[in-house]
Amino acid sequence: MIAEVIVDVAAATVDRPFDYEVPDLWRDLVVPGMRVEVPFGPRALLGIVVAVKDETDLARIKPIVRVLDETPTYTEELLQLSSYLSETTLCYQATALLAMLPAALKVSYDKLILAENPRLIHWNQKKISQFPSEVQQQILVAAQNGDIRLQPIVKEKKTSKTDKRIRLLDSTIELSKQATKQILLREYLMARPEVLWSEVMHELDLTVSILNSLEKKGVITVETIDVNRNPYEHLVQDIFVPSTLTTHQQDAVDAITASEETSTFLLHGVTGSGKTEVYLESIHTMLQRGRQAILLVPEISLTPMMVKRFKRRFGDRVAVLHSGLSLGEKYDEWRKISHGEVDVVVGARSAIFAPLTNIGVIILDEEHETTYKQEENPRYHTRDVATWRAAYHKCPVVLGSATPILETYARSQKGVYRYLPLKERFGGELPPVEIIDMRKELERSNRTPFSLPLVEGIKQRIERGEQTVLLLNRRGYTTFVLCRDCGETLQCPHCAVNLTYHQHQDCLKCHYCGFEAAMPKTCPSCESKKIRQFGTGTQKIEEELAHLIPEAKIIRMDQDTTSRKGAHEKLLNAFERGEGNILLGTQMIAKGLDFPNVTLVGVIAADATLGIPDFRASERTFQLITQVSGRAGRGALAGQSIIQTYNPDHYVIQTAKRHDYEAFYQREMQLRKLGGHPPFWFLGLVTISAAHPLEAQAEAEAIAGELRHLESDDLIVNGPLEAPLARLKNMYRYQVILKHKGQEEVREALRAMLALRIKQKVQVTVDLNPFVFM
Ligand code: ADP
Ligand code: ZN
Ligand code: ZN
Repeated sequence: MIAEVIVDVAAATVDRPFDYEVPDLWRDLVVPGMRVEVPFGPRALLGIVVAVKDETDLARIKPIVRVLDETPTYTEELLQLSSYLSETTLCYQATALLAMLPAALKVSYDKLILAENPRLIHWNQKKISQFPSEVQQQILVAAQNGDIRLQPIVKEKKTSKTDKRIRLLDSTIELSKQATKQILLREYLMARPEVLWSEVMHELDLTVSILNSLEKKGVITVETIDVNRNPYEHLVQDIFVPSTLTTHQQDAVDAITASEETSTFLLHGVTGSGKTEVYLESIHTMLQRGRQAILLVPEISLTPMMVKRFKRRFGDRVAVLHSGLSLGEKYDEWRKISHGEVDVVVGARSAIFAPLTNIGVIILDEEHETTYKQEENPRYHTRDVATWRAAYHKCPVVLGSATPILETYARSQKGVYRYLPLKERFGGELPPVEIIDMRKELERSNRTPFSLPLVEGIKQRIERGEQTVLLLNRRGYTTFVLCRDCGETLQCPHCAVNLTYHQHQDCLKCHYCGFEAAMPKTCPSCESKKIRQFGTGTQKIEEELAHLIPEAKIIRMDQDTTSRKGAHEKLLNAFERGEGNILLGTQMIAKGLDFPNVTLVGVIAADATLGIPDFRASERTFQLITQVSGRAGRGALAGQSIIQTYNPDHYVIQTAKRHDYEAFYQREMQLRKLGGHPPFWFLGLVTISAAHPLEAQAEAEAIAGELRHLESDDLIVNGPLEAPLARLKNMYRYQVILKHKGQEEVREALRAMLALRIKQKVQVTVDLNPFVFM
């Protein structure tokens, strides 16, 4: 038997299946979708079997070394999906397959040491990665001298949690009287057929060596078993009472669940209109029909709140996938899905690849969020993958948002998507929005970041025992370091960006490559001592606020306070319990929060994002203001939001004030049409990077030249230009942008350009329908 295998190498020259022999031992075992280890040149690599056959045209083929799965990791559907991904996003099939694999099933590569020289026997059978780098150097030298051999190996990462099942085998074997613990365990076992190690270990205060010696003597048998971890064990399961849907909500559910064929719906509901209720009910209906569901949420709104609502409704039938889980927890959740133990998958972007086999509905909540676009290869948009899977399963796709992205709304207007509006907030009004002109605050010589009405509003809420959410529009809140004498700003040595100062660690970090350095005492270029942080960090804002309102208890949520696992949840829980009057944070607090006691929302620098040179800047700002305003007044109490801006007359601010999506849409579409932007044009972004700037520039010019040959009235080529992020991780970057009225034409032009670039040292990446232009 022959297996066709895609190997884990991202290179154009190996972007096809390779034939391997399946040794007789595994003849009936190996099926498409399994992970295997294969030899590839001098290496050992992870491979994915995409087909099996009886014969090959090749004279000599190598055998598979090892099969890594008992059951296939990829279903037939997911294998087909990988081909679709590689064709539409122009990536290698290996890249597409690997992207679909949960982190816990990925592998790493290592080398096993085989000592030839007896003097080096202490290294024998050890893995090279376990040694510090100096020793690794010595090992490499020894390998060159022929004293050892290095054998490449594939290491699995999966870490399922295990326990030990202990059974009594023979109670008559004599034990020494001093071995009191051994005797204790034997007595314990005589009363019951079997026990778990996790249970007796603490109860009887045992160590593993006691277990080992009893096993060796033949008194007991010990068997290792897999156990499931449940990361949501601590979420109490309240008694669930289904809501009675409003007529509009029910109409939406009916439309979604009535469609037998694939269709895409836009559920356009203002914040608090009950979109989540519609999701829950549609999923419930599909489950009753014996089908399954995927609910996708942007990572950031994967708050315990949403999970709680799903757990409460569907109990153990839900698997939750997100980046906060440990590798082992991820593996457990994924295994439950692939064994058919769950019907509902809730997760962030990559959960769209969940190996469900009978999907009845796919939902993207907050469909406008940019996290749905993957920013590395394969550069797919989750909406497209959802549409492909829905066509495969003949089921509906639901895109839900209060502020749909323009592309989506335009399609719903053209009838490509079916439009389901929820115009009213459930049981209440949308909160009034007050616009504060910060220029007037300056005239009143208020130099703090907080306007008087906002400060008054917060004080009032504290008196009444109500809460406030304050959003800092992140763009305005970073701190960089500048020398007052020579004007030097401290930059990352590897990237063309300023380093950001982190106060609580007193260090400098590069947010693009992760570089870290201590805060210098003197300027590195002129040695002046007048080197200081500039700009406003979230921490500084917190200090100013504490100064203005000393009685306030503030909970701050930003990168620094939420970097530890579970910190996000802890802070939110504390706020929910009323341990703070104010929740202060960056974008991460804008969505998904549903606290009944929040009656005031303030946006500190609403327009900080308006000035970004990106055609989506207005749209993003509108979304942000609308979403965060939607956090107020979600309970019985009436809410209000206060938006501080230096551009009070800007159409984004004005339409957001009136909660008028339609007016914003009309205005923005005119501007997009004039500017030649999406959704009127499709874009392709080519990024060229090389270690030497001239190399990158020359290649960028060559690419722009080739693309220009195709230029017509419908195809426009811009560039090459230096990328906004001109240097990243020591690579110099250039960009070429391609525009066409048709998506397929952009793709074809990029495909043709890439076909000429096999085996070049300059790195070229392409991004269709890009969101990030850095
Ligand atoms: P969205 O997802 O559109 O922001 P939610 O589904 O979170 O809205 O609904 C907002 C609030 O209103 C929630 O607390 C929800 O429980 C409540 N709600 C919405 N619809 C109903 C309904 N039909 N019956 C009872 N409560 C509802
Ligand atoms: Zn200086
Ligand atoms: Zn950097």
